[in-house]
Amino acid sequence: MIRSWQIGEARVVGLTEYFGPVHVPNLLFPAMDHNVLRALRSQFEGVHWFEAVDRLVIGFQIWILHCAGRVILIDTGVGNQKSRATPRANKLNTVAPAWLAAAGASPDQVTDVVMTHLHSDHVGWNTQLDGERWVPTFPKATYHVPKDDYSWFREFNLSGRAKDGGSFFDSVEPIVEAGLAQFVSPGDRVAGCLDAVAAFGHTPGQLNYWLQSGGRTAVFAGDVLHHPIQIYRPAWNTIVDIQPEIAAPTRAAFLERVADSGTLVLPCHFGPPNCGFIRRDGDGYAFAPAGGEPSSGLSAQDPWSGHAP
Ligand SMILES: [Zn+2]
Repeated sequence: MIRSWQIGEARVVGLTEYFGPVHVPNLLFPAMDHNVLRALRSQFEGVHWFEAVDRLVIGFQIWILHCAGRVILIDTGVGNQKSRATPRANKLNTVAPAWLAAAGASPDQVTDVVMTHLHSDHVGWNTQLDGERWVPTFPKATYHVPKDDYSWFREFNLSGRAKDGGSFFDSVEPIVEAGLAQFVSPGDRVAGCLDAVAAFGHTPGQLNYWLQSGGRTAVFAGDVLHHPIQIYRPAWNTIVDIQPEIAAPTRAAFLERVADSGTLVLPCHFGPPNCGFIRRDGDGYAFAPAGGEPSSGLSAQDPWSGHAP
């Protein structure tokens, strides 16, 4: 699935590496209350939740940002041929390289690879197999690695506690060893157009990246929001939030900042159209999917279409 959006002078292509109803709701969200899901059925069914099989949808989104002459990937999905503990992510064999090339992000074109955090489903295409070795997929790119996440995941993996099949060693360390990594801290400007903001909790060093262009504002939100249900229940952490006591206040502050601000929010795991806006709704919030034509492919749509500025 490929869609393209215009954000001021910048253009973003959303490339869905994988999409499907896979998560058992109360396993992903220990606080799950199915009454909340059922109340949102008209918005969620077939997009964010498949009631017949009672599974929440997850998509793996790779955002490709064309901005001021740069070609920037924001998070790189699961990748091909990676050994992973989760069966649906194990040894994928997609044609993502062809999709990336169609979107103007072939290996020699990508100038920057930006990571929100270092979970295995966000770093996969950092590397690809060359014989027996994992080598950088984008040899001309600068890879922007969240500094605090790198420190935490390095210690976590070297101590042997990681259960994801070694994504740190096959998808992060080869970048550092190749001399392509640049470490990012909150407040840094990245790839000439993105401002890094702390979004700790889901992982200890997760960052959001804010883009301002042509009077428009967008934020690449990583996994501050894993599923749109968290817009309606911000206190619900996922089982994969590493620091739940930090993740929930981070999510609350994020929603407060973006609500009714006209900011396009681009998370990594939402069902189509994969991005949208947060509205205030009574004491809480609601999700408004991005506008524009569905199935637009590579022709850039206006996500603000149909939405008040
Ligand atoms: Zn994720």
